[in-house]
Amino acid sequence: MDDCIFCKLANNENGNFVYDDENVVAFDDINPVAPVHVLIVPKKHIQDIASLEEGDEKYVVSVTKAIKEVARIKGVLESGFRIINNCGVDAGQTVNHLHFHLIGGKSLGEKII
Ligand code: 5GP
Ligand code: ZN
Repeated sequence: MDDCIFCKLANNENGNFVYDDENVVAFDDINPVAPVHVLIVPKKHIQDIASLEEGDEKYVVSVTKAIKEVARIKGVLESGFRIINNCGVDAGQTVNHLHFHLIGGKSLGEKII
């Protein structure tokens, strides 16, 4: 996907990554909503969580590993954090490349569920 910003960021060998493995990267959100706000992004262009296909399991496994590593690196493993995935229009997804927000570093009061 030539015009996808997260394809470019995730496959930049000189990227400033919080976490990087063969399948995913994690980097700070450009517009953080909390002291810790990291995006965990597969290197493959997958539009959203509903677009995962057979064969994409390795990305899901790496996202799961990345969540714990990023939380540890950012110092919120003990204090707690929240993972958010927006899928599609009603969720307000603005970048159409699958990503998971990891936010923390303060009390995240506004629970909707
Ligand atoms: P969404 O609304 O799709 O769930 O989240 C998209 C997120 O990507 C937003 O939090 C936004 O701040 C972040 N974002 C958009 N463009 C860039 C960028 O070029 N660099 C970084 N680091 N984050 C971005
Ligand atoms: Zn992409």
